[in-house]
Amino acid sequence: MSAGMANGDFSGRIVIVGASLAGLRGAEALREAGFTGSLALIGDEPYPPYDRPPLSKTVLTGWLPAEHTTLPRFVDLDADWRLGVAATGLDLAGRRVLLADDDAVPFDRLLIATGTRARLWPNEEEGALDGVFTIRTRDDAAQLRERLAAVQSRVLVVGGGFIGSEVASVCRELGLEVTLAERGPAPLSGALGATAGSFAERLQRRHGVDLRTRVTVLALEGEGGRLRRARLSDGDTLDVDVAVMALGAVRNTEWLRGSGLAADGRGVVCDASCRVFSAEGVVLDDIFVAGDVARWPHPLFDGQLIAVEHWENAVAQAATAAHNMVCPPAERRAHKTLPAFWSNQFGLNIKSVGIPSLADEIVVTQGVVREGRFVAVYGGRGRIVAAVTVNAPRWLPFYKELIEARAPFPPELGVADPPPEAFVRPAGFPPPGQATHSPTVASTGPGPSSPPGSLAASSRQAEVTPETLRDPRVPVGPLPL
Ligand SMILES: Cc1cc2nc3c(=O)[nH]c(=O)nc-3n(C[C@H](O)[C@H](O)[C@H](O)COP(=O)(O)OP(=O)(O)OC[C@H]3O[C@@H](n4cnc5c(N)ncnc54)[C@H](O)[C@@H]3O)c2cc1C
Repeated sequence: MSAGMANGDFSGRIVIVGASLAGLRGAEALREAGFTGSLALIGDEPYPPYDRPPLSKTVLTGWLPAEHTTLPRFVDLDADWRLGVAATGLDLAGRRVLLADDDAVPFDRLLIATGTRARLWPNEEEGALDGVFTIRTRDDAAQLRERLAAVQSRVLVVGGGFIGSEVASVCRELGLEVTLAERGPAPLSGALGATAGSFAERLQRRHGVDLRTRVTVLALEGEGGRLRRARLSDGDTLDVDVAVMALGAVRNTEWLRGSGLAADGRGVVCDASCRVFSAEGVVLDDIFVAGDVARWPHPLFDGQLIAVEHWENAVAQAATAAHNMVCPPAERRAHKTLPAFWSNQFGLNIKSVGIPSLADEIVVTQGVVREGRFVAVYGGRGRIVAAVTVNAPRWLPFYKELIEARAPFPPELGVADPPPEAFVRPAGFPPPGQATHSPTVASTGPGPSSPPGSLAASSRQAEVTPETLRDPRVPVGPLPL
């Protein structure tokens, strides 16, 4: 029995590594569950937990100052905050988290919530040029906002996923010329498929984005340490002073290297109750994980391991992990919240539920695409696996229920007046190995209970080889450690 455990009520020492959304909400859920033991939060950023979604939206437009993104607190935590110091290692046998300042924090139970970071431009020298930005932290957003407010040249956005598209949208809102280079067939095609991506493509062009699809950036060139030009694979050279790298995210798992946990560049593997697996495949009762860094078997998708970079998932998974950390073993519950995401761009609200990238097919079930208000439903192996709404958020809960009920695809909705585009088309996700921007929710392989031939088999993670990594174009997929 672990320290502090009596009749299923845990009152020992809990340490949370990663003091952001999942870390904060996990800590609050622990206190709400009646946990009275000692609680420490370790975060490498100097700030108290803040919200990231506004960073690529209202912070960039200048509407919301970056320092006003601090997350609200719902519970008095009575916690020891260790901010501005990174965890550098985990001593599993000694039950200690090792810190960059050479201190070590003992724990009885640990919650890992170290999330992801922005993937950097693969050429270090080019990436260090003044004018090359990524956007993951509050400081990133504040600096980029300052530069966008003063920039004279065209802005280059590299990568047409959600964040890249949002940055392009903000540029147009600010009246800036912007080129977006996306190696896939359309913006958002990694997350939503090329068919839905064609809508995003028309949207961006209509709003004046100089969109280059199936185009990669080959090199960035500077003068006196400042970015001046970008060479594109379509033969063009752009004069740019600002380039925003929106190349996807990398999971923060390096600090766990050699710790004995099942953690690599794809995330930290846990069971459905958020308990982390050891590298040998044993479920550990005292180590939990939540948020962007987690990889867990989703009961609704054949138990395959999924990784989700979504705000709502971080909150829900942290709550499940916290509950399971302090409840009696028989009361542990599975984290089976459906992945859900929102984005605001070019005046539209885009919402998604489920896992679009598992789909083979797509059909518009409500609304009219050219009017910019519709629902698209995604099907994989005869089931509804996801739905996306554009300017129609209120229609989404209905489809969420269909996904949870494993309803058949195409759906029989009995609509008297179906939309003009109500025919089934290929969803247009790239086959494995064919590069595009990686999705923010994806299957990362079969889990312990995935049956052969299940949805997991259709997992579409692009292989990352050393060659891909050396390729100076947009890298794809998870980086191996
Ligand atoms: C610009 C932007 C826009 C977004 N927009 C949306 C949106 O519109 N909708 C949506 O659903 N989601 C959006 N997201 C995603 C959402 O913000 C994430 O899903 C969420 O932040 C995940 O929370 P987390 O706590 O798991 O991870 P994170 O927020 O990544 O937090 C992890 C924390 O751990 C810290 N850390 C890492 N390693 C260590 C270490 N070794 N020691 C100590 N601390 C460490 C990190 O610095 C960070 O503070 C957006 C993300 C970004 C960056």
